[in-house]
Amino acid sequence: MTDKKLIGVDLGGTTIKFAILTAEGDIQQKWSIETNILSDGQLIIPDIIDSINHHLKMYDMKADQFSGIGLGSPGTINFKEGTIKGAFNLNWTDAVYPVRDIEAGTGIPVTIENDANVAALGERWKGAGNNADDVVFVTLGTGVGGGIIANGQLLHGANGAAGEIGHVTVDPHGFMCTCGKRGCLETIASATGIVHVARDRASEYAGDSELKAMLDDGQDISAKDVFDLAKTGDDLAIIVADYVCDSLGFALANIANSLNPKYVVIGGGVSAAGDFLLNKVEKAMRANEFATIKDSTEVRLASLGNGAGVIGAASLIKVD
Ligand SMILES: [Zn+2]
Repeated sequence: MTDKKLIGVDLGGTTIKFAILTAEGDIQQKWSIETNILSDGQLIIPDIIDSINHHLKMYDMKADQFSGIGLGSPGTINFKEGTIKGAFNLNWTDAVYPVRDIEAGTGIPVTIENDANVAALGERWKGAGNNADDVVFVTLGTGVGGGIIANGQLLHGANGAAGEIGHVTVDPHGFMCTCGKRGCLETIASATGIVHVARDRASEYAGDSELKAMLDDGQDISAKDVFDLAKTGDDLAIIVADYVCDSLGFALANIANSLNPKYVVIGGGVSAAGDFLLNKVEKAMRANEFATIKDSTEVRLASLGNGAGVIGAASLIKVD
C-alpha cells in the first residue's frame, strides 16, 4: 500500500470543502472556503487551485506526495472530456474544464464525479455502507439526490443520469416537479417538498394541531418543524410525516426490488429526524418489498454527515 495521500474536494453552491486523507480514507486535514459564484463562476476553479497550493505549502507538502485529487461537483459530468456542464447553482452554463485546469495548476492528477454520487461513495466507503458492493444512497436536502453502487461499481447509466432517485414518480397525479413531471419523490420528501405537503394537508385539515395553527398564522415552517411536531404527537404533523415516509419507503422499496442492495442509506438534512423517520420508512419499505429483499436489504441512516462528500471524492482516486 502506498503512503501517498489523497485530496478530496466537495464543491457546493455555498462552500467548497477540502480534505487531505490517507489512502485508507482517514481525514488528516480539512478546511473549506466560500464558493464565489460571481463572474459566471469563473473564479471557482482558480480558487480551488490557489487553496490547494496554499495549504500544501502550509503543511510543507509537495505534489508528488499525492496520488490524486478527487472532485465532486454539481452539474453533468463528461468523463471523456473531463468537463462539467449545466451546474446552474455555480452559474456554470458553459462547459468548464476542472480536470485540465486543476491538474495544470497543482501538478496533481484529477478525477471528477457528480456530487450526489461522491456522497454515495463516501457513505459506502467509510460510513453506513460498510464498504459493501451494493449500496443505494438517497440524500434528502433542498432536493432529493441519490447514487447507486452495484457490484462494487458506481452506476452512471447511458447518459450519466443513473441514481436520480429524486425523480422516481411516486404519485402520477401529484405536485409539479422542477423537472417538468408530476409526483416525483423530490416534490414530497425533500425539505421543500415536506413543507409543500404540510401546506396542502393543512388546507383540508379541521382538527387540533399546532402545525395547523402555525401555518394559519402565516409562520414560515421547515421540514424540521414538521418532524419535531410529529414526534410530540401533533396530529397534522403525523399525517404529513406518515405521507412523506410512506412515499419515500414506496420508492426505496421499488429500487430495492430492482437492485437488491445490501444497504439503503438515507442522508441529507431531513435525515436528522433520525430513528423516527427511519422506522416509518422501513415499515413502508417492508410493505412493498418481496421476500428475498426483506431478508437481505437493510435500510440505515447515513453516518458521515457533511464529511461524506470529501471522503467519496477522495475515493475516486486510483491508488497504485
Ligand atoms: Zn422531477
